[in-house]
Amino acid sequence: MAPPENMRIIIVGGGLAGLMMGIMLDNAGIDYHILEQASRLRPLGTSISLHPVIRDLMDQLGLLDEMEALSKPMKGITVLSAKGRRMGRIDTRTNKRKPDLHEFLRSKISPDRLTTGKRVIDITETQSEVTVTCMDETTYVGHLVIGADGAYSAVRQIMYTKLQERGLLPEVDKKPLHFDKQCVVGMTAPLDPARYPVLMDEQCEVKVLLGKDQHTSMWFLPLQGNRIAWCVGGPDPHQMLQSGPDDGSSQSSKGSGSHNGSRGSSSGSGHGRDWYPETIVEICEDVRNFKCPYGGSVMDLIEATPKGMVSKVLLEEKMYRTWYHGRIVLVGDSCHKIVPFFGQGASQAILDCSCLINLLYELKSTDTEALLPLFQEYVDTRMETAKIASDSSREFADLIYEQGFKADIARKIVLRYTPAWLLRMITGTVHTERPFLKFLRPPIRRIYPSPGQQQQLQVQSQQQYQQLLQKQRQQQQQQQQRQRRHTQEYDL
Ligand SMILES: Cc1cc2nc3c(=O)[nH]c(=O)nc-3n(C[C@H](O)[C@H](O)[C@H](O)COP(=O)(O)OP(=O)(O)OC[C@H]3O[C@@H](n4cnc5c(N)ncnc54)[C@H](O)[C@@H]3O)c2cc1C
Repeated sequence: MAPPENMRIIIVGGGLAGLMMGIMLDNAGIDYHILEQASRLRPLGTSISLHPVIRDLMDQLGLLDEMEALSKPMKGITVLSAKGRRMGRIDTRTNKRKPDLHEFLRSKISPDRLTTGKRVIDITETQSEVTVTCMDETTYVGHLVIGADGAYSAVRQIMYTKLQERGLLPEVDKKPLHFDKQCVVGMTAPLDPARYPVLMDEQCEVKVLLGKDQHTSMWFLPLQGNRIAWCVGGPDPHQMLQSGPDDGSSQSSKGSGSHNGSRGSSSGSGHGRDWYPETIVEICEDVRNFKCPYGGSVMDLIEATPKGMVSKVLLEEKMYRTWYHGRIVLVGDSCHKIVPFFGQGASQAILDCSCLINLLYELKSTDTEALLPLFQEYVDTRMETAKIASDSSREFADLIYEQGFKADIARKIVLRYTPAWLLRMITGTVHTERPFLKFLRPPIRRIYPSPGQQQQLQVQSQQQYQQLLQKQRQQQQQQQQRQRRHTQEYDL
């Protein structure tokens, strides 16, 4: 069944979640408009890895081939000591790193569907419609609003203010986003493969270099286009600093969108590149003596990075409990901010979009009574998985950054002796759920889990697709059982 013909959706935020939502709505034939506060979208200066399960969705949307051409398959993560000694490895297999995902998705949105320079500051509802007001006093009317405006979501804060006024906001949602780690990410200009032969490899591997006292670690990742992404990270020196109250009372100071802040706007959110170059010099001092795993010094890579491709990022984290109210619903970082380890945030945002749109496609009317059970079903479906993703990312961050003797031992044990299949489960890189868009032809391509096992399948119907997935899940379970019996075979 198709949704009501005149249904119109306003998406607030043109980040990965907002753009993906737009692309899916386009494919579902649902009218929408994206409002983005930034007048110019600037790259974050890092690559994004998406879960293999996202591939089916991209395939259905007709974007897979193009997207894969921009990506390098990622084999795993190798953890090295400060002296370059291998401490362990985590197999990530079918993940792929995409340096320009945001730009790629943006190119798929028709310009008349996205308006930039529109900072949303208010949302009001009537019985049948919702009106979004921007800072420049322009208004947009629709049947529902999707808040895809990142960690410091203005939409969330507007919604929470209303809930709080009615005494309906849970205590947990009044607490601010938490962060105790920060990082600087960058992506070099194209480098000479003769100097860095690793760039010629068809696959890539993350190398994590742990600082001596674990205060600072550094990550490296060779990408398509002869570039290397890097990240210098560690605990925030002002650990007690938090991002401010997030219960609606601080709307004006924090409602500007964190991610855009981290891309360089002076949003007041605690991010920004305004500290460049002084702070970068300071933070890079910590890694000056690190040996680059590809030869030379890490400073060579840092110096080969254009200023516009460096960002400072605070690694905030929070799972919100309230994801909808009235005609407003949240997706992506606005409802679950996940620390960026194991590439979970964007993948979870895309999974939110696919779940929500499948439900919207079945909507019979745009009355609030019809929307509320739909939103609840969306939350019931998504929250648990997003929480697992968030927890596993946090656990991995702790595994890497925790300090002290006990943490050292734990790190050694986990990285050296935990079998690959178990690590993939702990780190949430195993997904048994295979989402797909109900209103499009089933995915007809690759069925993962591993490159060696990929098959080209022509699937004729949803039913056949589900049967295949069921069979594949059984095979995976059998394989995991076999792996458990033969852990000694694994190289860690
Ligand atoms: C260093 C780093 C590496 C990462 N690596 C990975 C990875 O490998 N894999 C992965 O899955 N995830 C990764 N993530 C996480 C991922 O980038 C985020 O989860 C994802 O981008 C969230 O998308 P979003 O659209 O929800 O939010 P955002 O990307 O924050 O987008 C929100 C948008 O809303 C706009 N906005 C904000 N307020 C308003 C307003 N009031 N009005 C209008 N517009 C507004 C902002 O300008 C912004 O464009 C990483 C994150 C970081 C920081």
